[in-house]
Amino acid sequence: MDEKSNNNRDRGIDARRRRLIKTAAVAAASLMMAGSDVALAGTTSGKRRGRRFVMVVDVDKCYGCYACVVACAHENNVPIGVFRTWIERYVKPDGTVVFVPKQCNHCDNPSCVEVCPVGATYVNEDGIVLVNDEICIGCGACIQNCPYGARFFNPIKGVADKCTFCSHRIYQDLLPACVEACPTGARIFGSLEDEESEVSKLLRSTKTEQLKKWTGNEPQIFYKGLPGEANT
Ligand code: SF4
Ligand code: SF4
Repeated sequence: MDEKSNNNRDRGIDARRRRLIKTAAVAAASLMMAGSDVALAGTTSGKRRGRRFVMVVDVDKCYGCYACVVACAHENNVPIGVFRTWIERYVKPDGTVVFVPKQCNHCDNPSCVEVCPVGATYVNEDGIVLVNDEICIGCGACIQNCPYGARFFNPIKGVADKCTFCSHRIYQDLLPACVEACPTGARIFGSLEDEESEVSKLLRSTKTEQLKKWTGNEPQIFYKGLPGEANT
């Protein structure tokens, strides 16, 4: 092999080495970030958080138009056949029909986070439960361990998926797509850290319920006017 070929071969090895080192560094940084968020998740209950994002759902205002479901699917490229939010329909003994919007509850004590073997799902500093697509291996442990059926396997991305409270929007001072789309104001979103926010005022003045509180997950979606049938 002549000197030029040797130089080319050495340059190739160096480039591969640099790429490997860069990939390892990115992976290590991602794992460290996920690890710190998982540690935060273990000591949550809102005490160490910046903002505390929650949603209040006024069941009496929902008339099942599905505007929120469509807006969510459009905003988040949700594949056909799976949902980040959905509407359940209940018929009361008196024949009245009640619609109950559901989604990930962004639990304060999320059972989906504790079972993830690679730290891909985590709680961010404002209490939003998220999935890091770069780390998720699609094993489905979190899907199995969510008592609300709020997670699904995204067949296009090959990872676990769920509501993110439209985190890409709310950090630009926009509302989650479902909240913006609702024509009746049945979904109210905000932070409990702001005592004057609409959600803070509502939670102080109105009786609300959380879904399956007995699980110990401490869900952060609060329902006004929830029928008992919707909470089993
Ligand atoms: Fe996790 Fe399910 Fe709670 Fe959402 S509702 S944070 S997916 S346990
Ligand atoms: Fe109910 Fe509002 Fe969703 Fe329509 S957009 S289904 S009224 S929550």
